[in-house]
Amino acid sequence: MEFEAVIGLEIHAELSTKSKIFCGCTTEFGGEVNTHCCPVCLGLPGALPVLNKAVVDYAIKAGIALNCNINKETYMARKNYFYPDAPKNYQITQHETPLCSEGFVEVETEEGLKKIRIERIHIEEDAGKALHEGDASFIDFNRSGVPLIEIVTRPDMRSPQEARMFFEKLRSILLYTEVSDCKMQEGSLRCDANVSIRPKGSKEFGVKTEIKNMNSFKALEKALEFEIERQINAVRNGERIVQETRRWDESKGQTIVMRSKEEAHDYRYFPEPDMVYLVVDDNWIEDIKSNMPELPDQKRKRYIENYNLPEYDAEIITASKELAAFFEEAVANGGNPKSISNWIMGEVLRTLNDREMEITDVKFKPADLVKLIELVEKGTISNTIAKKVFADMFETGKQPEKIVEEKGLVQISDEGAIRDIVNKVLDENPQSIEDFKNGKTKAMGFLVGQIMKASKGKANPQLVNKLLDEEIRKR
Ligand SMILES: [Zn+2]
Repeated sequence: MEFEAVIGLEIHAELSTKSKIFCGCTTEFGGEVNTHCCPVCLGLPGALPVLNKAVVDYAIKAGIALNCNINKETYMARKNYFYPDAPKNYQITQHETPLCSEGFVEVETEEGLKKIRIERIHIEEDAGKALHEGDASFIDFNRSGVPLIEIVTRPDMRSPQEARMFFEKLRSILLYTEVSDCKMQEGSLRCDANVSIRPKGSKEFGVKTEIKNMNSFKALEKALEFEIERQINAVRNGERIVQETRRWDESKGQTIVMRSKEEAHDYRYFPEPDMVYLVVDDNWIEDIKSNMPELPDQKRKRYIENYNLPEYDAEIITASKELAAFFEEAVANGGNPKSISNWIMGEVLRTLNDREMEITDVKFKPADLVKLIELVEKGTISNTIAKKVFADMFETGKQPEKIVEEKGLVQISDEGAIRDIVNKVLDENPQSIEDFKNGKTKAMGFLVGQIMKASKGKANPQLVNKLLDEEIRKR
């Protein structure tokens, strides 16, 4: 029997507001332990929460970017639970009335464009952090009360790759809107996954397990791959899948049971009595809508329509806000969009990947890339030389004309000079001339290579081909 996976994700994103959700404390990451706190975020008796308006702004912005309905009347709820890192023993969150609902994200999969539906986005507070040293545990409350949005999808993903692509797209959208800094290594973007399997073609859902707290795209994909295979093997061996919470152990490469359903919590939700209803009116929503930045999908479409970029290039460049900004600045400097895109998709991304660097780390300016392209188009340097100049620009941040001038890399386009080199190379390689006369066309390629080498890559390739053809026929 063939199985298919059914995957839904729950993603927590810390919002980029300056202050916490219910008090004025800073949300800044790190800092001396327990210095970013006050009675409210420490959960001291009698302290009253006051909702930070910016949190609602950010959550609405995320909702609009993710094609959601914004719900005009919602309330905060208490989720009762013993949290060692939350002294109130409850979390203030939203329960039956999430601020945003029924959205979607479009993901380009192997089978074409696919809509992954979003069930809800609600706002809530983050908990503190437990620190363990030897036998002792300590709590740092700096993170306690940092605003979060939880984004819950419908179980629309069918493979670990799809889940990963969705998560990457979601991160890109949150970064474009500046709703969250999405720093996974600092925990500002975290992902839980619900996963089950069923016979392919079946409409019913299998028993699902939940994998908690995956903090990288790779971890999400690997954990899902492992878990799906584990479930399929269990079913094939006649075992039953039990509903449980698991975690991904990176070093072991497997998911491990954290708790089973029997220990599941009853959260006893009820409306937060210390807080009034949250009422959002049309003006508030319109105001945020009118200040929305261009989102990755809109940008991608514009690049294809206005610049004639291939879909693949447009998708890669717009996936990163910074890369798109670099591209647009280059275009604004008068460069040909397609040539710029070719360079970005080629040398730029290849070098960045090799060095594990980001586009924001590069020393040269978008205008310098445009100048480099112009040097090639004007015939001042060849493509081969341009790659060397690029490597130098990348290393030093120097302007391309300067590098060309300092290193004497100007292309030789003087017919006489090239003809001399051609004849010298022909003199040295009588065997190749013989081969050519006998119909071995490969000999030409070899000779061109020798000529380019003799000119240190500076000979104009079109002229080399033309003059070689002329001279070899005279022999
Ligand atoms: Zn506080």
